[in-house]
Amino acid sequence: MTHEHIPFLDIRPQEEATTVDSAIKRVIDSGQFILGPEVQAFEQEFSEASALKYAVGVGNGTDALYLLLEGLGIGAGDEVITTSLSAGFTAIAIIRSGATPVFVDIDEHRLTLDPAAVQAAITPRTAAIIPVHLYGQPADLTTLSQLAARHNLALIEDCCQAHLATYQGRAVGTFGHGCAFSFYPTKNLGAMGDGGAACTNDTGLAERIRSLRNGGMSKTSHHQHAGINSRLDEIQAAVLRAKLPLLPEWTIKRRMLATRYRERLCGKTIAIPPETDTGHVYHLFPVRATRRDSFRDHLNTCSIDTVVHYPTPLPNQPAFKSNSTVIYPIAEKICQEIVSLPLHPALTDASIDRIIESIGDFSG
Ligand SMILES: *Cc1c(COP(=O)(O)O)cnc(C)c1O
Repeated sequence: MTHEHIPFLDIRPQEEATTVDSAIKRVIDSGQFILGPEVQAFEQEFSEASALKYAVGVGNGTDALYLLLEGLGIGAGDEVITTSLSAGFTAIAIIRSGATPVFVDIDEHRLTLDPAAVQAAITPRTAAIIPVHLYGQPADLTTLSQLAARHNLALIEDCCQAHLATYQGRAVGTFGHGCAFSFYPTKNLGAMGDGGAACTNDTGLAERIRSLRNGGMSKTSHHQHAGINSRLDEIQAAVLRAKLPLLPEWTIKRRMLATRYRERLCGKTIAIPPETDTGHVYHLFPVRATRRDSFRDHLNTCSIDTVVHYPTPLPNQPAFKSNSTVIYPIAEKICQEIVSLPLHPALTDASIDRIIESIGDFSG
C-alpha cells in the first residue's frame, strides 16, 4: 500500500487559477477596493444562484447572522433558539446581538435542530429560531417554518455550510426571513480571506443590512444607526465571482464522492449518518465511530487526515454556558463519535478508495 499523504482539504486554486489571478489583477488595476462594482456584481450573481432576491456582501458569515438579527430588531431581552451542534460562530452572532442563545438538542438522523426540542424551548421571550444546515444537509425546514409561523418567530437560516443546497427541491435560505452564508476559504464557495453574505427576499431588511454593514450610514458621513464595519472587499468579491460559475460542478463532484464513500463503506466498522435529502451539498462527510480516537490514530498511521466537527456541544463551552435546564443528550453522544473524512472537489476516486481500504483494515 502506498503512503502518500491524503490531506483533509486542498483549497489551492486548481482549474480556476488563471481566472482568479486575472480577477485579482483587474481589481488592483481599478484602484477601487471597497464597495465597488465587483461587490455589486457578486451580490447580484450570488443572489441569483441562491434563488434569493437580495444578497448583501459582508465581512464574514458571523457578521451576516448578526446583521440579520440586528436588522430584524432582535437583541437584548430576546431569546434565540439554536442547535447544540454547530460551529461556535452561530452562537457568537446571537450573543453579539444582545439576545440570549437557547441551545436545544438535534435530530439523531439529520444531526440538525430537532423541531420537537425547539417547540419545548419556546417561551414568551423567544424571538427567533436559527437552524444550521450542518455539514451541507438541510434541517427539517417544513416543521421549523410551521413552528416559526405559528409562534410568530423569525426564522434565520445558517447556510454557512450549505451553498446551493436544496430542501425538497427548493433552495435553502428561502424558507426563513433571511439567511447567512460564509465564504471562509474552506467553505463550498470560499474566498481567499474572509467573506460572507446576508440574504433575504425582504426589501426593507436588505436595505437595513446594507446600511448597518457600512457603519449604519444612510448617506455619506451621516450615521442613522450605530452599525458595524463589515464590508466584503472588492478583491474577495472578484475571487468569488471567478469561482461561482464552477460551484454547481464542484457540488456534483462532492455528491459523487459522497456516494462512493456510502456504497463502499457499507458494513464497515463505522456508521454513516443518512442522507435525508438529495439536496445535501456535502460540505463535510462525517461518520460515526464509537472508538473514535483509535479510528483516527489508525487513519493517521495510514497518512490520512481527519477532523472532528465538533468535539464539544456549544452549551458545554465556557463562552456559552448558561443556567438553562434544557438537555441535549444526542448532541453529547454525537460529539463523542463524529469524525469527518476528507471530501473536496479535487479529491480523486483513487484517494477515496485508499481511504475506504484503510478503514476496512481498522479492527474496530
Ligand atoms: C463557518 C461558519 C460560520 C461562521 O462563518 P465565518 O465566515 O467564519 O464568520 C457560522 N456558522 C457555521 C455553521 C459555519 O460553518
